[in-house]
Formats: sequence, structure tokens, C-alpha cells
Amino acid sequence: MGQANPIFDNETLGWVDLIPPRQSQPKISSDLEAKWLVIGAGFTGLSCARRLAEINPKDKIILLDARELGQNASGRNSGYAVAHSHFSGAYKESDLEKYQRVDRINQVGLNSLRTLVKDNTINCDWIDSGIYHTAADSSSEIECDHFINYLKKREIKHTPLSNEEVYDHLGTSWYKKGVKVDNGALMQPAKLVFGLAENLPGNVELYENTPVLNLILDKTNKVIVPDATITADKVIMACNYEKFEGAKPKQRLVGVTLSGSITRVLTNEEFATLGSQSSWGVLSLHSGGATIRLTDDRRIAIRNTAEYNNHRLLTKKQLIKRQQIHRQAFDNRFPQLSHVPFEHLYSGVEGVSANKTNIFEKFSDNLYYAGCFNGSGITKGTAFGIGIAEYACGKNSSIVKDCLALEKAKWLPPKPLLDLGAWFTTKQRFKGVGRDR
Ligand SMILES: Cc1cc2nc3c(=O)[nH]c(=O)nc-3n(C[C@H](O)[C@H](O)[C@H](O)COP(=O)(O)OP(=O)(O)OC[C@H]3O[C@@H](n4cnc5c(N)ncnc54)[C@H](O)[C@@H]3O)c2cc1C
Repeated sequence: MGQANPIFDNETLGWVDLIPPRQSQPKISSDLEAKWLVIGAGFTGLSCARRLAEINPKDKIILLDARELGQNASGRNSGYAVAHSHFSGAYKESDLEKYQRVDRINQVGLNSLRTLVKDNTINCDWIDSGIYHTAADSSSEIECDHFINYLKKREIKHTPLSNEEVYDHLGTSWYKKGVKVDNGALMQPAKLVFGLAENLPGNVELYENTPVLNLILDKTNKVIVPDATITADKVIMACNYEKFEGAKPKQRLVGVTLSGSITRVLTNEEFATLGSQSSWGVLSLHSGGATIRLTDDRRIAIRNTAEYNNHRLLTKKQLIKRQQIHRQAFDNRFPQLSHVPFEHLYSGVEGVSANKTNIFEKFSDNLYYAGCFNGSGITKGTAFGIGIAEYACGKNSSIVKDCLALEKAKWLPPKPLLDLGAWFTTKQRFKGVGRDR
């Protein structure tokens, strides 16, 4: 995969490689003018551009990305479309409003994606299967009890599972217990991103391999890309953890790099050892624990490393080292499949804030930002995309109110303190992970 710009790492291997290549959209090579410009074509930018187009059917909306589609976090994630977030610790009645707000946001994103997939017959292996949350170590066992209590209090449909029941469902006896939450979906994320881009409204123009280098804010914004200038009345930044000259929001998020491996397709005999469900997704109840999927095409995908790598993807050498950690976790859970090789190895970078909240902000009358989803941005990013479009159009809808009411992300110090702090905090995420890794 060619590099659009050395700043924007573009290495692939992973979900995008599991599907046929697509013809990318052209880059911008001459000056353009538009009412709206959306920077970043992940879930947030795709959703924002769509909503802007719906509200303003006569306006031209430019959606551009530094990379090719699917080479961002949106195309590299594990494919869990979460409806109910897991808040660690015991249920707190005083936090009820926060719990409800976060889940309302998730649900807006989930509903939007589900409808788009259905209405446009997007082939992305979408399955409304619900999501498993599991505990392998004693600290996450306690977390499992907290989560089940939380789900009960909130009257969210779920099924608690013993060690044996987890085995019956998933074919692994590694977990002490778990719980299945009914509401939530799984999909192949790169296929979904491609499908969403193919079905954008007619007044959205998508450009790839077009990095924004500079933004000159004035009555009309001038956005500088390598071969052209784009003049736009309003600019929405949906560019996750990445920055560019001229847009100077306060430093409140960093990029954390995650990595995972995906096996070859399992044979019928291997597949038969994996319990009663044909396709499933497991999230760990420990924040440093492994996420594991049995995909629709019968592969197992495992993701269990996270580190601060200066906002970059991992190099091949780093990836090969991380794969030993993936392998160990895989063999622990599926000793019957320890002969099954991994076929794909990948990393992805996600925006994370110090207090694990999101950013939804108007920097000025013509510059907005939505992003930073702390590893849970498929449904949230989609909802934030809708919200930021409505906010920029002056609407005071319920999604706008919910996004604005979220806790604000804390300010972070500049480098080199930032690097140290981010490295340390990411490492802390694995404290007590034990068997959950
Ligand atoms: C390995 C991994 C697993 C994950 N698993 C899950 C999961 O299962 N479920 C879940 O909900 N979330 C998951 N996440 C998080 C989720 O993927 C992200 O929160 C979400 O994709 C963020 O979407 P986004 O559109 O805000 O950002 P991105 O997808 O990162 O898109 C931002 C885009 O902005 C572009 N950009 C940046 N700067 C510029 C510039 N100057 N000019 C032009 N373009 C620019 C980038 O190229 C990029 O394409 C995971 C993340 C990772 C990395």
C-alpha cells in the first residue's frame, strides 16, 4: 500500500487484507470551494458528512482523508458495535444519568449503522449477536459481578454465564465466568467502512490520500493540502488523535497503539470444537484483557496489546514480537487449536484521553471537532458524527445535548511530559490483568 505522506503511516495487514481491494477515490489536485469540509473518513467523518448532506441537500460537502479508506482505526478495530458500555467498579446510583447518557449515544450510533447496513445491503458480516464479557482472573471475576449487578439495576437484557456455560457457548474453559449482553452487534470493520463510503449521499465528494497540512482560519477557512487549497465556510475535524498546523485545540488526547492477530480459516473439525455459537465476540472485563472474535468466515481474531508508541503503528519487527503475546493468549484459550497458524498481524492507533471521555467541541464559529473514543468508537463515533453535524448546523437536538453534557477531557502537558505520562498510563492499564491477557 503506497504512502500518501510519510507522516501518515499507512501500513496494512489485517481486516483490509481479508477482503478484495477497492478502487480508491482520487486525491485533491486542484483548488476547491465548498460550504462544508470534513477532515477524516473514519466512522466519525463518514457519519458527519452523511448527516450534513441530509440536512443541507443543496450544499457540497467535501470529505477528505490523508490515507486510503480502512487504513485508520475505523478499518483496523475489532468490530464490536457496543450498545451498553462497561463502567468499571460497583454500580453508583449517583452516576445513573451518566450511564444513561452514554448508552443513549451508543444506541444512536448502533441504530444508524444497523439501518444503513440494511437499507444499502452493505455486505459487512453484520450480526446482531450481542456481546460476551468474560473474566479469567480473580480481579475481573469481581468486575463481572459488578457488571451483572449494573445490568440488573439498569434492566438491560443479559445472561450470566458460569465457566461451563461459557465453554458450551465458545469452546473455551479459560474463563471463570462471564455475561452475555443481548444488545450489540459484530461486523467486519473494513467491509463496513467501504460500504458506508460507497453509499454516501450524492452531494458528498470523497477524496483519499489528501493530507491536510495547514488550516488558515478566517471568515472562510483555507485548508492547505499538498497540491491545492480548499476554501470552506465550515470545517469539521474528525481526525481522531492526529493534528495539523493551524488547528490548535488544547492537547487532550494521545494515540495508543493496539495490536492483534487473525488465524487462517478454521476447518470444519476445528470449528466444531468452538461451542454452540457460529460467530461471537468476547470483551474482557479487565481493561488490559484480550478481545477475541470468531468471525463470520470462521477465523479467530485476537487483540491483546496496547502501548504508547508516539501515535504510530507498530513496525514489522515490533509486530512480530507482539505476536508472541497474541499466540500465548490464543493457546491458553484454545489449546485444541494451538496448531492453527495466524495469517494476519496488524496494529491500529486509537485516541485516548486521560479521564477516558470523548471530545465534542466547537473551537470557533467555523471549526468543530468530534473524536477520542478510548477504544470504543464504532457506535460512539457514528453518533458523534451525527451530533457534530447537527451542532455545526445550529441544531439543539437530543444527540447534541447528550454529547455536550459528557464530562470534558482533561488537559495534557506538552512533550516530553506527555510521552512519559502516556507511556505510564497505558502500562497501568495492564495492572492485575493476569489470566485475562
Ligand atoms: C485495534 C483496535 C481495536 C478497536 N476495537 C474496537 C471495537 O471493537 N469497537 C469499537 O467500538 N471501537 C474499537 N476501536 C476504536 C475505534 O476503532 C475508533 O474509536 C474509531 O474507529 C474512531 O473513528 P474516527 O473516525 O473518529 O477516527 P479514525 O478511524 O482514526 O479516522 C480518522 C481519520 O482522520 C484522518 N486524518 C487525520 N489527520 C488528518 C489530516 N491532517 N488530513 C486528512 N486526514 C486526516 C486519518 O487518516 C483517519 O483516516 C478499536 C481501535 C483499535 C485501534
